[in-house]
Amino acid sequence: MMKTIGVLTSGGDAPGMNAAIRAVVRAGCELGMKVYGIRRGYNGLMENDMYEMNLRSVSDIINRGGTILYSARSDRFKTDEGMQAAIRVCRERGIDGLVVIGGDGSFRGARDLSLKGIPCVALPGTIDNDIGCCDATIGYDTAMETIMEMVDRIRDTTESHDRCAVVEVMGRGAGYLALNAGIACGATSILIPEVPYDFERDVIQRMMRTQRSGKVHFVIMVSEAIGGVAEMAKRIQKETGVESRATVLGHVQRGGSPTARDRILASRMGYHAVQLLKDGIGNRVVAIKKEEIVDYDIVEALAMENSIDLDMYKMAMEISI
Ligand code: ADP
Repeated sequence: MMKTIGVLTSGGDAPGMNAAIRAVVRAGCELGMKVYGIRRGYNGLMENDMYEMNLRSVSDIINRGGTILYSARSDRFKTDEGMQAAIRVCRERGIDGLVVIGGDGSFRGARDLSLKGIPCVALPGTIDNDIGCCDATIGYDTAMETIMEMVDRIRDTTESHDRCAVVEVMGRGAGYLALNAGIACGATSILIPEVPYDFERDVIQRMMRTQRSGKVHFVIMVSEAIGGVAEMAKRIQKETGVESRATVLGHVQRGGSPTARDRILASRMGYHAVQLLKDGIGNRVVAIKKEEIVDYDIVEALAMENSIDLDMYKMAMEISI
């Protein structure tokens, strides 16, 4: 059985990471393990920046966004020298295994470490939901709620002024947030990277058609992978005559108190990760599939493609007119 494990958060932060850290620390302590909290992702691992955590180190964090361990990106870790430094620190500290909470970039690091003899279990912590093996990632539900709340506010003012709001939401290369937030907010058009679009047909003509049926205010939801919302707003105003404003929601989407769904997901995943490490199992990604917590080989998980539900897109287009 593993006696000492480490936990770190890496890449873009996401609400619910703290709940995952809490579950890892508590589950590890309950098994009598020594649990190190590693600061600033792989940087802290290479630089030996960590502290021993106990049951009380993770009190009062389940409700907090961000990550008490801080997060970072590190180019050094991608080099052989960086990897060797990380392995050396693990050996010196007696760390038998690691829990890595992050996105697919962080998973690649966890895969490399596992293949070099430090077993890692990776948890999907990202608001983007862009992990192929997983139905939902830690932080996605909270980000969706935040977007919905923000767009509802924008909608109030577009309604008062007969305007069009062109809203850019996050998601990196994936359109999950834009598609589902677009449905939740009743967006007239949704532009996501998975579906090719024609601006004239899919935005201008749709707006004009709804205008003819009496609609006077609009929300257009655009994924950050497409971007260009300022130019879009200008073009919409010019071609439809509807006063248009662009809003980039930005990092507001990454913060805030996690939803119940994210807290529960993070707790289940963190607990599962420790049970794997307890049995000496590494090189795994923990995922949720049809409400069940499962795990996959990291290499296989990274090869799984994201698949957006195109029927959902079709439905959104039919009912948002
Ligand atoms: P995320 O985990 O949110 O996808 P990044 O893609 O920035 O974020 O990855 C986080 C960190 O993981 C990087 O800064 C780097 O240290 C490490 N990483 C990313 N890609 C690789 C890779 N191919 N090999 C090893 N480490 C990687």
